[in-house]
Amino acid sequence: MKCFACKAEIQDYSSICPQCGKDPQPNPYEAPNAGWARPASNPSEGDATGGIIPYKNPKALIAYYLGIFSGLPFIGFFLAVPAVVLGIMGLRDRTRNPAIKGSIHAGIGIGCGAIFTLLWGGLIILFIITALTRGR
Ligand SMILES: [Zn+2]
Repeated sequence: MKCFACKAEIQDYSSICPQCGKDPQPNPYEAPNAGWARPASNPSEGDATGGIIPYKNPKALIAYYLGIFSGLPFIGFFLAVPAVVLGIMGLRDRTRNPAIKGSIHAGIGIGCGAIFTLLWGGLIILFIITALTRGR
């Protein structure tokens, strides 16, 4: 099949076009010719264009929210680790297909996740050491 947005030849079951990162199916909510008028892909249009939410890069988006909520006490540690993992996965997807965006979201996820992994991880280790030394 051909992508509706950029006319690239793609696999029939693709939900995201590897060329332009858009939905290759005609979107009934858009004007019929909107997809055709747009340029095929625009890598120069970076993440900085007005804080666009990277819907096409769910890993980066989830990493972003996990990274933010990893600041919560107790459960934060269990959010911080997947935030780093998903952030790295989101960045790899972004490198493969720049049109999906999300490098800023992934970066925030990795940054916050790494900080809170160290913070909560350190506190947990400190707590264990304290508990062990107190037993003697
Ligand atoms: Zn396309």
